Amino acid sequence: MRRDDPEQLLCNVRREFGEHGGVVPSISRSTTFTVMEPETMPLIFEGERGPDNGGCYLYSRHYNPTVSVLGRQLAGLEGMEAGLCTASGMAAITCTLLQLCQSGDHIVSSNTVYGGTHALLSEVFPQMGISTSFVHHADAAGFLEQITPRTKLIFAETMGNPTLSLVDIQQLAAVAHDHHLPLVIDNTFAPTLVTPAHHGADIVIHSLTKHINGACDILGGVICGPQSFIDELMDLHHGRVMLFGPTMDPRVAYDIIQRLPHLPVRMREHGRRAMAVARRLEEMGIRVAYPGLPSHPQHALVKRMFNHGYGFGGVVAIDCKTNEKAQQLIAALQNDEQFGLMAVSLGYYDTLMSCSGSTTSSEIPAAAQEEMGLSSGLIRMSVGITGSLTDRLHQLERAVYKTGLITSMDTAVWQQDYLDGFQ
Ligand code: PLP
Repeated sequence: MRRDDPEQLLCNVRREFGEHGGVVPSISRSTTFTVMEPETMPLIFEGERGPDNGGCYLYSRHYNPTVSVLGRQLAGLEGMEAGLCTASGMAAITCTLLQLCQSGDHIVSSNTVYGGTHALLSEVFPQMGISTSFVHHADAAGFLEQITPRTKLIFAETMGNPTLSLVDIQQLAAVAHDHHLPLVIDNTFAPTLVTPAHHGADIVIHSLTKHINGACDILGGVICGPQSFIDELMDLHHGRVMLFGPTMDPRVAYDIIQRLPHLPVRMREHGRRAMAVARRLEEMGIRVAYPGLPSHPQHALVKRMFNHGYGFGGVVAIDCKTNEKAQQLIAALQNDEQFGLMAVSLGYYDTLMSCSGSTTSSEIPAAAQEEMGLSSGLIRMSVGITGSLTDRLHQLERAVYKTGLITSMDTAVWQQDYLDGFQ
């Protein structure tokens, strides 16, 4: 296994034992901490001492021991120096961008981003004097053209929500670094699959609410980057995480710590099943976007950018052409076949399906949806890891047929390679 392989990176993170030598870290629930020497307290407030440099913990909106364990583990996974956990993915994005920008500044962003991020950039930030130019995700030259003297960062999602179009992180990093700008990547769709830092990203964000947690019962986010940037976010006078206050609760951090070791196993299984679903749908003549399919328009980039051995992710984008057909297919899959659930979000152990244009991307205006290739009939399917894959494929075939998306059904005799995976 390569030294920079994500599974290895996770293993390399210093093992942290709980109190009394527990094999799991302790949950440190105290909101405030005893400072033993009177002269230390002012030094902590001045930012000259912290838990890792001769000081100690102070107050849990600042640093908390359990939350810091998770931050170190996620930074390890992403091959970055430090990590800071937040209460949600949106908190991670908002605090990062507002740490880097102030009134009068400018952001260049990929046009293929989560609807909430799009709304933040196009509706909320302008009220604060921060503007954003959206550029087609695959147009590196377009990113370059939009940079102005007031540009403070380039932002993109590794795998755009929900179209699964990719950005070439290496190219964007070159554009950003030529102008001394940081490249901020939201890697929510691709933990373990892509390690943005290996391609030049400076700051990597995740919504932990999705694959990293994996059970749809926790909201969380993380910002990974250089220690100096994490220190800025926690600065007592200017730190956006410290002062806006969306820090993570230690009990939440503990739960995610317990799920992180099996993230690589889960991602492989999501990928194996998503690949089978995508292949079968494509064979049936349905338009599908999935990075593992040779028909994905950026398949060459997939081969160059993805880590080996983790598959191509758990999300499949299915284009049913019209919203009506998409809704019918979701209803048949949920109510007739028990194939999955009509619900937003992704990375759950069961399959989740939603019609992105009218739900999680509804904040994006219709013209912008069209520009990013988001059809009103697009179903974002987060393929789960439960049940027999063969049964699931048969359920899928029946629902597609019943919805009238195909007119005849030849039930496939499953080739073993379908079920074996993605390699
Ligand atoms: N980034 C991406 C790519 C997302 O899909 C989402 C939510 O769907 C977010 C960020 C926001 O994360 P959260 O819901 O944890 O705030």
